[in-house]
Amino acid sequence: MGTKNINFFNTGRHVDLEQHKEPAFSAPLCSVPIRDCVHVPLYDPGGEIMYPVPQKGDRCARFSPLARTMPHPGEKMGPSWIMSPVSGFVEDIVPMEHELLGNLFCAVIRPDSTVPPLPTVQHSLSTMTIDGVLRTIHQAGIIDEFDGKPLITKILRARERDIREMAAIALDDSPYVSSALKTVSEFASEVTDGITIVLKALDGGSAKLAIFDCDEVHMRPGSDIMGFVKPVRMSGGFPLISKFKRQYYPKGNFLPIGVQALRAAANALLRGIPQTNGIVTVSGDCIKHPCNAIVVNGTTLEDVLRFVGVNKVPNYVIFGDTMNGVTVTDLSTPVPLGTRAITVMHSLPRPEKTTCTRCGKCVTVCPMGLPVYLAMRCYEKGEIDKAASFGAEKCTGCGACSAVCPSGLETADVMRTLRRRKREMRLV
Ligand code: SF4
Ligand code: SF4
Repeated sequence: MGTKNINFFNTGRHVDLEQHKEPAFSAPLCSVPIRDCVHVPLYDPGGEIMYPVPQKGDRCARFSPLARTMPHPGEKMGPSWIMSPVSGFVEDIVPMEHELLGNLFCAVIRPDSTVPPLPTVQHSLSTMTIDGVLRTIHQAGIIDEFDGKPLITKILRARERDIREMAAIALDDSPYVSSALKTVSEFASEVTDGITIVLKALDGGSAKLAIFDCDEVHMRPGSDIMGFVKPVRMSGGFPLISKFKRQYYPKGNFLPIGVQALRAAANALLRGIPQTNGIVTVSGDCIKHPCNAIVVNGTTLEDVLRFVGVNKVPNYVIFGDTMNGVTVTDLSTPVPLGTRAITVMHSLPRPEKTTCTRCGKCVTVCPMGLPVYLAMRCYEKGEIDKAASFGAEKCTGCGACSAVCPSGLETADVMRTLRRRKREMRLV
C-alpha cells in the first residue's frame, strides 16, 4: 500500500480555469460534527504496516495512540503513530477497502464524553535539538496535503540534498479549492511557526509563502502577513506550482510544503497536539452550503455531505478537486488526513462537442500523467485493447481531462470504460 500522488504533472503547460471558490471561502470556518462513530484508517503514508494499540472494547482518550509502525532494527527515529481524534471506546478494528488508500485496517471509535482527553504538553523550539525536531515530526506521522507524502520523508530528502530553501504552498489553483487560503487567513501564526520548525530541521535557510491570487477571493487585509516570511502572490493557469518553480527556483532546489502540514508540525512540536484533523473545502454544484470545514480523521463522506447538504443527485463525488482528485462511489468511506477538498458535482462543465485538436490539455491536467488523447484516438477507431494499454488502470476517474477539453470530449468517461475493460481482462 502506498500513497497516491494526486499532484503529479508531467508537462509545463498551463490551463486557464474559471474559479468557483466563492461562497466556500467567505463562509465561516466550521467543524463537521461526528454523528455516530469515527472510522479511523490505520494508514501510514510511508507505506509501513500499522499495528493497532488498543483492542476492541478498550477506552481510548483523545490524542492517545491508536496504531504505530514497527521500527526497523537500528532505526533511530522510532515508530510513527496515529492518534485518536476523539475520546471514547474502540468498537472494533475492522479490515476495510478504502477507495483512495487501498486495503487497510480501520479503528471504529464511538465517542464518549466520560473519557477525558490526554493532557497536551507545550514545548519550546529553542530548547529542542535538530534530531529532536526530526524525531517529533516523524513520530507525529504528518501527511503533507500538497502531495500526500510524509512530511518527514520530504525533509530528510531535502537534508540529503543540502536544500536550505523552502516554500509554504497555498496555491489553491483548482477551481473549487480554497482550504489553503483559508488556513493562511485563519492560522497565519501557526503556519509561520511551522515554517520556523522546518527551517530548523533544514539547519537554517529561507522561506517564501506561495499564495494563489485570484479576483474571486478577498482575504482580510494583512491576513497573509506571516512574520519574517514574504508572501509571493501567484496568478495564472493551472498548475501554478510549475510557474512558481520556474520563476523562483529554476534549478528546483527548494522544499515545497503545504500550509496545513506546516500548521500540523507547529501543533505537534510546540503544543503537543497531534494531527487528527484537516481543513477541507466542501463544494461543487450539488452542495447547499459550500464551506471550509474542519474534518476529524475518520469522519465518513456521508457525515460530511449530511452536514453541508446536497441539493442535486451527485454524479461525481471527488476526494480533491475536479482537476486533481479521485472519484469515490462509497459514501461510507472515511475522509483521509491530507484531504484538501471534497468536490461534489452533478455535471462537469462541457463546451459543445467537436473533434480532438491534439491540444494536449487533457495530458497537462491528468494527475496520473496519462496520455489521454492517445487512448481516445485508439478508442474512437475501435481499438479498445490498445486504448486500454495507455495506463487506463491508473485513471482515478477525477474528470479533470473532460473538464478542460476545449472540444467537449467525454475523455474521463472513456478512460473509466477502459479502466473497467482492463479489469475485466484481468490485466491489472
Ligand atoms: S482530448 Fe480534448 S483536451 Fe485532449 S488533446 Fe484532444 S482536444 Fe485536447
Ligand atoms: S479522469 Fe482523466 S484526468 Fe482524471 S485520472 Fe483519468 S484520465 Fe487522468
